[in-house]
Parts: sequence; C-alpha cells; structure tokens
Amino acid sequence: MAIQAPEGTKDLLPDEALFWNQFKACATEVFGCYGYVPIETPIFEQTELFVRGIGEATDVVSKEMFTAVSGENLKRLLEGGSIKSKSRLSMRPEGTAGVVRAVVQHDLVPQGAAPAKLMYAGPMFRAERPQKGRQRQFNQIGIECLGAEEPTVDAEAIIMLMRFYEKVGIPPEATRLYVNSMGCDSCRPAYRELVRAYMNEHAHELCETCMTRAEINPLRAFDCKNDKCDEVMEGAPKITDHLCDDCREHYAAVRELLDGAGVAYVENPKLVRGLDYYTRTVFEAQVVDGLGSQNAIGGGGRYDKLAEEVGGRPTPGLGFALGYERCMLALQAAGVEFPKAARCDLFVACVDDSVRARAFGLVQACRDAGFVVEMDHQKRSLKSQFKLADKLGATRVAILGPDELAQGCVKLRDMATREEELVELESLSAKLS
Ligand code: AMP
Repeated sequence: MAIQAPEGTKDLLPDEALFWNQFKACATEVFGCYGYVPIETPIFEQTELFVRGIGEATDVVSKEMFTAVSGENLKRLLEGGSIKSKSRLSMRPEGTAGVVRAVVQHDLVPQGAAPAKLMYAGPMFRAERPQKGRQRQFNQIGIECLGAEEPTVDAEAIIMLMRFYEKVGIPPEATRLYVNSMGCDSCRPAYRELVRAYMNEHAHELCETCMTRAEINPLRAFDCKNDKCDEVMEGAPKITDHLCDDCREHYAAVRELLDGAGVAYVENPKLVRGLDYYTRTVFEAQVVDGLGSQNAIGGGGRYDKLAEEVGGRPTPGLGFALGYERCMLALQAAGVEFPKAARCDLFVACVDDSVRARAFGLVQACRDAGFVVEMDHQKRSLKSQFKLADKLGATRVAILGPDELAQGCVKLRDMATREEELVELESLSAKLS
C-alpha cells in the first residue's frame, strides 16, 4: 500500500487549506482590533522549556510530547550514550511556553512598559491517542498578553475569543463559556491540600490514575473522564470558597466586566486547566452539541509565574488557544457551508494548436492585471476545454481561434448567460473588471 499520513495527522486539502487561511485572516482582523500583533516561534524548543514551564507533572509533559533529535544524536542515544541538554528538543505541544520564552529572551516587556500583546497560529504536536477531534498534529491560534495583571486584560481576551467564534461563523447559541479562578501562590497550596485530603478519604471510589494525581497534582482529578471519579470530585472542596481576598476581588472584577459586555458564561469551580502554570482566571469554550467528549474549542487563563519559571523577571501574563480542527467540526455541526477553494475569472480556450502561444501570452497578461486565469495544458479538444472551464467554475471563457486572431480579437463568453461578444485583445482585461 502507498505510504499514508501518520496516525493522528490530517492533510488539509485545498478547500480546507484555503479555509485555514481565511480562518487565520479572520483571527488576525478580530484580534488586531484589540491590539494583538503576530509572533512566530520555532515549532521545536529545548525540552527543558516545556518541563520547567508547563510542569513536569502534567500529562502533556509526562507522556504527550514528541521528542525531536538530530540523526546523529539519535544514533548516540540508541548506542546508550547521552546528549547535551541543549540538544534535547521537543515538538511544541502548545504555544504559550515558546512565546513566553521569546518575550524573556528578547526583553519584549521592559520594566514599566505597556503589555506585549502577541498572537500566533500554527501546528502543535501531542502524542495522544487519536480520536474524533483529537489529533497528534493540530493547528491552534492563540494569543498571549504579557506585562499586566489587571482583570481588564482577562475580560478583554475572553470577550475577544467569543467575538471571534461568532465572526468565523460558530453560532453563539452553539457555544458555552466556562470560567473559574485557580487562585494564586498564597491561596492555592492550602486548597490543594484540602483536595488531596478529600481524595484520600475517597480513595476506594477513585481510579488509579486519580490516586496517582492525588500524590503529585490533585487538582487534575477534576478533569478525569471516569464517571465515578467525576461524581466523587463533585463533592470536593471548591476553589472559589478558598480564594484569598486579592484573587476573590480579581475574579469578581473579571465577571463584572463580562457581564457588562453581555458575554454569557457559566461559573465552573471544577474547571482546572491541564497545565501547571495557570493562576487566577481560567476559561474554556465548549460547543454544546456534535463533538462528543472532545468538545473544547478553546481555552486559556492567567499565568503570572510562568515568565519567572523560564528564567525571566516577574511578568504577569494571560493567554488562550483555540483549536482550528475542532472549530471546523463545530462549523460542520452547525451546518455552515465552506467557500470553494479556487475562483476562476477567465478560461482561455484555443480553437486549435496554432494559437496556443498567443493564448499563453494572453493568459499571462490577464494574470498580471490581477485576474485568476487558466488555460488547458494538455492539448484537449475545444469541447473538453469547455468542460474543464466548467469544472474550474470559470465565469468567462475567451475563445481564441485563427479567425479571431486575424481580427485582433477573442470571442468572450459569459458562462452564466451564455452570451458571446467579440472583444479586442487589448481591451480584454478591462472587460473582465
Ligand atoms: P489546550 O492547549 O489543551 O488548552 O487546547 C486548546 C485548544 O486546542 C482546545 O480547546 C482544542 O480546541 C484544541 N486541541 C487541544 N488538543 C487537541 C488535539 N489533540 N487535537 C485537536 N485539537 C486539540
């Protein structure tokens, strides 16, 4: 059998690839209105960045990363040797760590500066078990705002995310937004102990994975997909009852701003996002129907300690990422029609081979004038050329034959009305506009 794409990856064929471009353009436009500008970081980074930044105890770092090594280093490892820590590379499983690394490395937020508002779009890699809506390579668009801890930053980003979904065509009634606060260094450790104690009391009712989590990262148990664990964790202490005064005020301010903007949300004290770096505000957008268990189309939160984790000065931050492929599934579930990939303004058909060279020149001239123009390359019959023009969706066909050429003209046919007229070669592109 011919070689297939690796498991958990998906080719974006032309219609979809074109839609991906439009999707990115829509995000650039919406996020641009909020002051976000693009940044591009490498798709692989030193493994250490993810281990220190995301947190060793998260699933992403412990089992979901793809490692990248050069052929030479792979050989060294296979032979039982070791490689320098700088050469330990991982494909990025998410975008935040790389962007924060770049902000620190290039000092994009000097002391006292206005926040840096950055956006990115591109592939992420996670060695998860593939299923509908869960791939090993998938595309995310994300934003990061570094340098401000005020709740307006959180609210603004959440409003922007929800506006984007609407703009791109996901009906607001098809989405649900969950928000929570995960507290900070002064209130979360005590809360984490309360959850751990609660889990130990219910050890016999929880799955093995959750009991391992109780040891290293108890809050992750809130995310367990096991129904019984979900039921037990329903009764666990709620973070929102244990926030310190500052976190409680911050969270209240975010909600008030969302209320003021008319953004509907559901408070969910069980929403703990998978990565260790989150502090205070966390949020997740889900689609209500049609995506099964992989129904999160985007999410994010505040990470006030991450810049320090990766070696920078204290710099508060907040970001989110949204998944392109899941948004596509949500759009399909909502019955949204996708635009066709290519448009064709003109097809130049040759009556016989003698006019081919002139036709080639005419096609170039019309393309130079900014039109999408095609011709046949395979010496098809005139009838087949018309079929091809139809297939390409050409709105007009220019028929070029020796008789027309002798008059310095082409016959221009409107494919919708079937009307034909003789047009001078020089005025063809003017006629197309
Ligand atoms: P996360 O970085 O896990 O918060 O993911 C942010 C968004 O990326 C999710 O809400 C999904 O829409 C999307 N996403 C995450 N993991 C995958 C995956 N394995 N396959 C496809 N989309 C994903």
